[in-house]
Amino acid sequence: MAKNTFFVCPSCGNVRKFKIFTSNFQVVEQSPETGVRIGESGVLPSLRLNDTYVECQACLKKSDYDMAVAIGKKYVEESQRVEKYNLSYNSGYVHP
Ligand SMILES: [Zn+2]
Repeated sequence: MAKNTFFVCPSCGNVRKFKIFTSNFQVVEQSPETGVRIGESGVLPSLRLNDTYVECQACLKKSDYDMAVAIGKKYVEESQRVEKYNLSYNSGYVHP
């Protein structure tokens, strides 16, 4: 399975729904809770072959694809760190 690519809108912080324009066009839906893609449309051929960007479905701003991925990566790492912290905190808890 391909590595999950997670997008975050640099303009408004939306993480749920994006239109992705690469060599193909696709609509994806993501879960901010788990940091994974939970839905995606079929892949359609894009008419704009040389453009690579994502369009946020919340603010409708277009963002650089790589930038949205870079922020998304950070977002996922951050949420996983919090999860790990909570787990170790809970498992380390000793009832008096
Ligand atoms: Zn946005």
